[in-house]
Amino acid sequence: MRTTTVIIGAGHGGLAMSRCLSERSIDHVVLERGEVANSWRTERWDSLRLLTPNWQCRLPGYSYEGDDPDGFMTMPEVIDFITTYAKAVAAPVQTGTTVTSVRRADDGYRVTTDQGEWHCATVVLATGAFNVPHIPAFATAVPSSVTALSPLTYRNPSQLDDGGVLVVGASATGVQIAHEIQCSGRPVTLAVGEHVRGPRVYRGRDIHWWMEGAGVLDERYDEVDDIVRARRVPSMQLVGTPERATYDLNALTGIGVQLVGKLAAIRDARALFSGSLRNKCELADLKLGRLLDTIDEWATAAGYDDEVPPPHRFAPTTVPERPRLGLDLGGGEIRTIIWATGFRPDYSWLDVDVLDAKSMVRHDGGVADSPGMYLIGMPFLRRRKSSFIDGARDDAQDLAVELAAFLDGDGATRARAAAR
Ligand SMILES: Cc1cc2nc3c(=O)[nH]c(=O)nc-3n(C[C@H](O)[C@H](O)[C@H](O)COP(=O)(O)OP(=O)(O)OC[C@H]3O[C@@H](n4cnc5c(N)ncnc54)[C@H](O)[C@@H]3O)c2cc1C
Repeated sequence: MRTTTVIIGAGHGGLAMSRCLSERSIDHVVLERGEVANSWRTERWDSLRLLTPNWQCRLPGYSYEGDDPDGFMTMPEVIDFITTYAKAVAAPVQTGTTVTSVRRADDGYRVTTDQGEWHCATVVLATGAFNVPHIPAFATAVPSSVTALSPLTYRNPSQLDDGGVLVVGASATGVQIAHEIQCSGRPVTLAVGEHVRGPRVYRGRDIHWWMEGAGVLDERYDEVDDIVRARRVPSMQLVGTPERATYDLNALTGIGVQLVGKLAAIRDARALFSGSLRNKCELADLKLGRLLDTIDEWATAAGYDDEVPPPHRFAPTTVPERPRLGLDLGGGEIRTIIWATGFRPDYSWLDVDVLDAKSMVRHDGGVADSPGMYLIGMPFLRRRKSSFIDGARDDAQDLAVELAAFLDGDGATRARAAAR
């Protein structure tokens, strides 16, 4: 089978690309191993809601139009939103089709699937940034008496044995899961490394409303000092709840979660925590202060000071006087460990020389280091918001321009591709 562009993945990223290619009459197909919105159907825990507000669910040619713009979608609502989008833009999705290999061919790419082979001039990798949990190598030293889970296998507290739970990682995923499990009556110890603190509401408005207004979410990949580092910054500690709750470390300590430093090693069944907890928390408090300074400056410049409550600052993170530095994992205190240590994309099917030493696609703002190959949905791909649903709106439009120019044989684009 032949088409101009194969898009791999029917999450919102692939669908947004589909819509932008259709707009330009570029013939394409979207190949999806599961159903549309597969990640949201199969890889998320039960209670998860989006941490981005409904009004921010915007895709090319489509946006949230319900009666709760300030609310946060549940998983069934997200699946419905994305499925409705696929229909609205008439995306040519072929579901139940797993891509097993992508190879260079003379005239573009050969895409092999379990349902046959496609030949195309251009290919868009929209397979997601969060396919597999990123778990440290020393995880193999966890004693067999402790059940190990990741955010992809955790569903709800009822699946856990009674007893203590060690949650490793305190970004959005870790704090949400820690909160839920502590509330279920299982005592949680939370290992905290580098993290980004964020209040749900500041000066009466959602933090995402402020970050969007102040231009923080639109910051471009070619404007930041260190894009490699920026792409690795953990997600902000946010949760979307009807109560607009903040789940920062103070909130977790308030319900009884015990904080420890970053999990550095496991030796002789003993978890060893770094002594850096206080430093990490002070750094996160400092960075929160800087973010709020940016927001306050913008609020003044944009004339909001008379409309919203005055600036204020949040209490510093309370750190235990002497956090535990070790924990016996074999002694029965901990029955479950949850690795909320981040995710990675899976490119095991990509047979093109385009991966760097860390198995990430080499790219410049989503234009991959292989002619006619594009990437969407990665953290800070083109903008700080790139891995959010809202990020695909601008990124897909930009990448469709790049892809169309490549097909048109635009000299500069071809030269750039050839030089890669
Ligand atoms: C826990 C969690 C919470 C999040 N919360 C929010 C939030 O509140 N707001 C927000 O805006 N964003 C959120 N995100 C980020 C983001 O929206 C998601 O990661 C989103 O799923 C990325 O969209 P995508 O289309 O790039 O990838 P995905 O939605 O992951 O879609 C990729 C698709 O590719 C398919 N695929 C993969 N490999 C193959 C293959 N070999 N062959 C065929 N198909 C394949 C998958 O089945 C999947 O359907 C969250 C992410 C996570 C992990």
